[in-house]
Amino acid sequence: DISTPVVRTTKQTHPNLPPGLILGPDGKPCKVCNSWQDWAKLQNNKKTTSNFPKLPSPSSATTSSSSTSSSPLEHTTANAVVYDRSDCPPDVAQLGRSTWTFLHTTAAYYPLKAPPETQNNMMALLKSLSLLYPCSWCADDFQKDIKYNPPDVSGREGLSRWLCERHNSVNLKLGKERFECTNEKLDERWGEGPKN
Ligand code: FAD
Repeated sequence: DISTPVVRTTKQTHPNLPPGLILGPDGKPCKVCNSWQDWAKLQNNKKTTSNFPKLPSPSSATTSSSSTSSSPLEHTTANAVVYDRSDCPPDVAQLGRSTWTFLHTTAAYYPLKAPPETQNNMMALLKSLSLLYPCSWCADDFQKDIKYNPPDVSGREGLSRWLCERHNSVNLKLGKERFECTNEKLDERWGEGPKN
């Protein structure tokens, strides 16, 4: 059951670090396992270091629609402080979005009926991904999920739907909306785009 993951966090092992920060397999806080917002909390802890920009206090955020900050990494919009993280290492969400984009797009261009060698290559890709994915707690759950739900690599529609269901498992775990895994919706989102 991946909806109740067992994850080691700083609460259990590092009383001097912000609680809830997810640890990697080496027992240290893991950047790509956490959101950048949680990771940035590390900067406020004098017992450790961080290369993230200092977050302004909420009161320092202006309501102007133009950029008023002296930091190149932040600017304010009407309602929020926005950070330009384009050159920063990925956090758990950015890595996830990029990986799902790659996987769903690859499925959208996969052969309608895949020859055996292509099926083998796709199997190897998915297995390797589950072993090598750098967010280790995500990888652990993904390994469990694909063990109980073996990949359908027979052709485009089967693979697209299978990936959609795996993505929905993660959506469920994170409290996100379920995607409707029909061929039509998947093609619209990841293949040809809306038909009109
Ligand atoms: P994403 O979930 O990244 O989705 C991107 C886009 O895909 C959406 O905008 C939507 O248009 C479309 N989409 C949504 N659902 C589906 C679907 N079912 N099928 C097809 N298209 C869809 N994050 C964690 O915090 N914990 C984890 O354990 C975790 N495990 C992950 C495991 C894997 C293998 C991967 C690839 C990512 C994992 N992530 C995990 C990241 C997480 O799934 C999201 O990518 C991340 O939270 C960013 O979410 P998002 O709302 O930007 O959209």
